[in-house]
Amino acid sequence: MSQETRFVQDIADQEDDFSRWYTDVVLKAELADYSPVRGCMVIRPYGFALWENMRDALDSRIKATGHVNAYFPLFIPESLLKKEAEHVEGFNPEVAWVTAAGDEDLEERLAIRPTSEVMILTMYSKWVQSWRDLPLLINQWANVVRWEKRTHMFLRTTEFLWQEGHTAHRTEQEAQEEVLRMLEVYRDFVETELAIPLVLGRKSESEKFAGAQATYTIEAMMGDGRALQAGTSHGFGQHFAEAFNISFLDMDGERRNAWTTSWGMTTRLIGALIMTHGDASGLILPPRVAPHQVVVIPIFRKDDEEERVREAINEITQRLAGQVRLHVDWSEHTPGWKFNEWELRGVPIRLEIGPRDVAAGQATVVRRDTREKQAVPLGELATRLPALLDDIQHALFERALAFRESRTHQISSIDELAAQIEQERGFFWAVWCGSAACETAVKTRTGATLRCLPLEGGDGVGPCLVCGQSGGKTAIFARAY
Ligand SMILES: [Zn+2]
Repeated sequence: MSQETRFVQDIADQEDDFSRWYTDVVLKAELADYSPVRGCMVIRPYGFALWENMRDALDSRIKATGHVNAYFPLFIPESLLKKEAEHVEGFNPEVAWVTAAGDEDLEERLAIRPTSEVMILTMYSKWVQSWRDLPLLINQWANVVRWEKRTHMFLRTTEFLWQEGHTAHRTEQEAQEEVLRMLEVYRDFVETELAIPLVLGRKSESEKFAGAQATYTIEAMMGDGRALQAGTSHGFGQHFAEAFNISFLDMDGERRNAWTTSWGMTTRLIGALIMTHGDASGLILPPRVAPHQVVVIPIFRKDDEEERVREAINEITQRLAGQVRLHVDWSEHTPGWKFNEWELRGVPIRLEIGPRDVAAGQATVVRRDTREKQAVPLGELATRLPALLDDIQHALFERALAFRESRTHQISSIDELAAQIEQERGFFWAVWCGSAACETAVKTRTGATLRCLPLEGGDGVGPCLVCGQSGGKTAIFARAY
């Protein structure tokens, strides 16, 4: 068995065991590792470089829509967390508590933030006095802790990184516009940067965020046909403002409560990226967020060959500086080992340069997504590589979209859903009457949850898939992460 074959066989087969394939890729691509703390992972430098690129691309969009960043405390006093009943009830089972400092018990327990609504809105109550103080549009990049019973790297970890935006507005309409504006910002970020096609929709009552009036979501389909909630945006109406006393003197001299929203996106998206684009050889990273967009593999045998290859590579590195994120692998491994390693790590383009290439004044360029190989004259690399990266970015999106469409089905009854989902996972569009009982019936029988009521597509005409009543709405059901 060659070294190359052995290498790839270290990853589980996607078809046999998607979950193990996923974990193998996370570990072997060195995105993350298990830590001594149960349920908490270490994000390794390669995974963190990916996260930094994602974070920067989202952060610039958050700022471009008028928001500013700030930082709030990690700890939340118990009395504060309990101010909004629905919210505390929703999070209570997952909250980690600090009860002592050194040898002394604390007078009041401190929650480690599972989310920061109560902390940030408490500060807003100090900062908002008049309608002139509104809107308040603040985002925070932070870590949060939710004590999960079952964890899965990136997808569900006890501690994770995220951004949480919290806004307060003068009117209901402004708040509603904000909720949908940020949903659109998320859509643009995920589809443009991560090449993951999305369905935008509203969550049902049972699936919405604790304390929210309405939760909107972006839902993506993973490579095994399961759904993944990739980000959420919530409207809280006025009841958080009532609980936290965020009131202001309005233009007409009346005192009114503000309307608040929040929206968040997490390191879970790295999991979405892996499961949307990865293949049998490992990760495939969209060029826009890939830590290395191009990896250069020098190929040489004799000393005189090495010098020529080195010269050519130095020249290429200089020419491409500032144009593409390029990494030259000078390590002592064989070229074959390096090909596999960087395929596994999902680098969009591999550039091979050997003595014959140098003599011909060209490089061999290989795409990670299609494995297509072409010879490119060295003088054309600076124009051809950026164009190729764009191509790959679009091709990944189109491929994921085509896959989602092939796994999306219109169904009319729970029997049909139960039969089809056993055959193959996917998105199932159906009419739902709106009752929690019918939603639960679907979940119990098929394991599929109501992902969202899509904002586009679906006319809601026809009988409810469970009870047969008409006058419902179109809903998407799927088994989900
Ligand atoms: Zn029904």
